[in-house]
Amino acid sequence: MTETTFDVIVIGAGPAGYPCAIRAAQNGLKVACIDGWKNRDGKYAFGGTCLNAGCIPSKALLESSELYHRAHAEFAAHGIQVGGLGLDVATMQKRKAGIVKASTQGIAGLFKAAGVTALQGHGRLLAGNRVEYTAGDGSTRALVAKHVVLATGSAPMELKSMPFDGQTIVDSWGALEFEAVPKRLGVIGAGVIGLELGSVWRRLGAEVVVLEALEQFLPMADQAVAKEALKHFRKLGLDIRLGAKVSAAKAGKDGVAVAYTDAKGEQAVTVDKVVVAIGRRPWTKDLLGEGTGVEVDPRGFIQVDHECRTGAGNVWAVGDVVRGPMLAHKGKEEGVMVADLIAGQFSEVNLKLVPSVIYTAPEIAWVGQTEEQVKASGRAYKVGSFPFMASGRARAMEAPAGFAKLIAAQDDDEILGVHVIGPMAGELIAEAVLAMEYSASTEDLQRTIHAHPTLSEGLHEAALAADKRAIDMPNR
Ligand code: FAD
Ligand code: NAD
Repeated sequence: MTETTFDVIVIGAGPAGYPCAIRAAQNGLKVACIDGWKNRDGKYAFGGTCLNAGCIPSKALLESSELYHRAHAEFAAHGIQVGGLGLDVATMQKRKAGIVKASTQGIAGLFKAAGVTALQGHGRLLAGNRVEYTAGDGSTRALVAKHVVLATGSAPMELKSMPFDGQTIVDSWGALEFEAVPKRLGVIGAGVIGLELGSVWRRLGAEVVVLEALEQFLPMADQAVAKEALKHFRKLGLDIRLGAKVSAAKAGKDGVAVAYTDAKGEQAVTVDKVVVAIGRRPWTKDLLGEGTGVEVDPRGFIQVDHECRTGAGNVWAVGDVVRGPMLAHKGKEEGVMVADLIAGQFSEVNLKLVPSVIYTAPEIAWVGQTEEQVKASGRAYKVGSFPFMASGRARAMEAPAGFAKLIAAQDDDEILGVHVIGPMAGELIAEAVLAMEYSASTEDLQRTIHAHPTLSEGLHEAALAADKRAIDMPNR
């Protein structure tokens, strides 16, 4: 079999793989990108989990369901009366599908424009930087490249005691595809997916029970934020049960009985559908042939160094399939970094400053260390907090819930962490990421002009509050 030669072959066209392929082509390299994602219609689509079954469809449904909820619960406060408010899930799902299609077709267009050879099918790394490509019709081709980048992503974890059946017990993708609002929905796991998708279906009218094994709510977040969030989610009607370890599920005439244990002992709750959202695992199935030298750790992650080198020849790995947070933007930066390093340029990814966003209402976003982490580090610190209740813009938006919180070092004033719960938190956090990327001090933020009236003034005031110089609220 004759081998087709490339400078770079990327396996996987999710948010880690496709930017890597495009940047490598921008760098003047001959690039191929192989992707095997197939949607429920059996057709291939680029964009990976994020575009097809993750970030984009979930945000489309979060937006629709939030609008419905606001029309139902909040418009009256604006003096807007909505008569005969109705819900058409089919149209909502059709809108979502249209957004997904436009986004995934967009990647195909970007590949074409950049000159990337886009291959749909399966890629398998063989020894000596060779890749076996199997197309949809089963035919195989041998490819070879100077560099191979593995960007094969992750897949949902399953509970052994309740395997996915695609109908009643579903993963996050299944929960994005419901054709009607379930009357009673069980969500296993109060992580990011559980909270986002639980919010979607709760806002649309489902009774939602969230079972979380840990006693602590959102342990990865600043605990002041977690406490505030729990209050608002419970107010929305999410029945969040902490310390609830799920053991089994049994389908019966009345629905699915989910058994769990908590501090009081054996419990059960009966629901119509169950979403299992207990985390994701790296995906390397049928990826690594004999003798590639690529190592996988006991949890299934491909082992890499800080520059995403696997240590096996010129093989690199990026995105969810390697260590670090499973986030699209983290994968994207790794992909771009690798493409630049391959081209001999300087590049790095600062894993300490990867922003996290939970797209609930109120929205939650943070970057850097939590107060608990700073305290544990022993470094003297100061905190400034500003409630959105004191923000004219937030009040005008009828969205006064939450606060912006900034943590800075006592000695040199450097910002160590920023945590926002409130309207547009995911957008507001970008300023904090940029500030921290440049090692900004609290004083730098204090002396930066923020337009009025904007939500970003909340972050400005939090920086001022760290030195008890806030203007729009009393300093304590
Ligand atoms: P993936 O997106 O998983 O892409 C990997 C691609 O490789 C897939 O297309 C796969 O089919 C393909 N592939 C695998 N093996 C092979 C092979 N051998 N040959 C060919 N192709 C192969 N992250 C955020 O940052 N923000 C969010 O709002 C967000 N929301 C999410 C919501 C949900 C419901 C879910 C499930 C995830 C969400 N995420 C979010 C996480 C985000 O989707 C992932 O972090 C991101 O998709 C990882 O990108 P990746 O390129 O590493 O992998
Ligand atoms: P997660 O790790 O965020 O949360 C899983 C939760 O399930 C944990 O709180 C865990 O304690 C709990 N759990 C585990 N086993 C359990 C059991 N048997 N019973 C009850 N609870 C149990 O995982 P996820 O929510 O599935 O999300 C997966 C990944 O996708 C995350 O890494 C996340 O970063 C990414 N994601 C990101 C976004 C975003 O950026 N907005 C949105 C969705 C997903």
